[in-house]
Amino acid sequence: MNVRLVLIGLFMGLVGLCAYSCLAPRSAADRLLAEGASLHALAAQASPLEPGTFPASWIHGADCNNDPLIQVHAYNDNLFILRQSKCDTFEAPFLFLLFGDQKALLMDTGSKASSPVYETVNRVVRDWLQTNNMSSIELIVAHTHSHGDHVKGDSQFEGKPFVSTIVGLDLPSVTQFWGFTNFPVDQPTIDLGHRVIDVLGTPGHHPTSVTLYDRRTHLLLTGDLVYPGHLFVFAPEDWPVFQESLRRLVEFSAANPVEWVVGCHIEMGAAPYSPFAYGTAYHPNEHSLELKPDILRDVYRAARAMGDQPQCQILAECVIHPMYLCGPFWNG
Ligand SMILES: [Zn+2]
Ligand SMILES: [Zn+2]
Repeated sequence: MNVRLVLIGLFMGLVGLCAYSCLAPRSAADRLLAEGASLHALAAQASPLEPGTFPASWIHGADCNNDPLIQVHAYNDNLFILRQSKCDTFEAPFLFLLFGDQKALLMDTGSKASSPVYETVNRVVRDWLQTNNMSSIELIVAHTHSHGDHVKGDSQFEGKPFVSTIVGLDLPSVTQFWGFTNFPVDQPTIDLGHRVIDVLGTPGHHPTSVTLYDRRTHLLLTGDLVYPGHLFVFAPEDWPVFQESLRRLVEFSAANPVEWVVGCHIEMGAAPYSPFAYGTAYHPNEHSLELKPDILRDVYRAARAMGDQPQCQILAECVIHPMYLCGPFWNG
């Protein structure tokens, strides 16, 4: 009798164990980590509707006598990437200008009020209008987030031709403009005219951070959340927010073809595990701006493994950098 009871008990125990381990819900992001699926392979299943190219290298502080203050690169005919010179500002952020049939969207205005951002953008807009036999287009000025190195040129756009909107810097202005009703969980879209862009709330680096997914190029513009450089998290309460935004980006990238992850700075060398120290104004042999979408899973995996004990850690193509733990200039 005892043996039968023991066997029945063992059987019930096994059933219980399996029910727990086999049926316990796991997030889609966790499953992707476990399965090791390549986000880039997923992206490759759907070729971009509008391909584009990145330059072999960007201006990087090597020739301050001849480099332009702002480099303009046409990713393709309807999407432009601007980089501010490291000779002018060590932040050397990237700005993005996307054209639809009815509206153009400028993401960020750079890190220096004196930099010729409006002048440069205006020139690109006028050239684009001429190429497309148009006389005018509505220009929206918005931001990946409200840090000073992304908004300093805003005032240059006030009252200027074509400029219809300069989105405010506080969270209510940001959420209202994009159409969030439950930031950062819901996922509004903006249509520039045959150019639909998905907008994801991705706080963690900054409370107003958004990530844009351009359905025409399949570029994912991640601002300062993910880029080849120091992924700064500024306060302990931001850490779980950062982790959660990464998790949602992994899930988004598994459900939508992402060609490249494109952030707003470069602070890594081309060789793996080789960050420049924050503040460096000369970047010989720097990393490409664009990152394969697998970077999202790599960063999420590392951040998730830290749990609620974040650390400063150098990864192959970026640095997880909780600034409150190791200061801004930590470099390994
Ligand atoms: Zn920032
Ligand atoms: Zn920045």
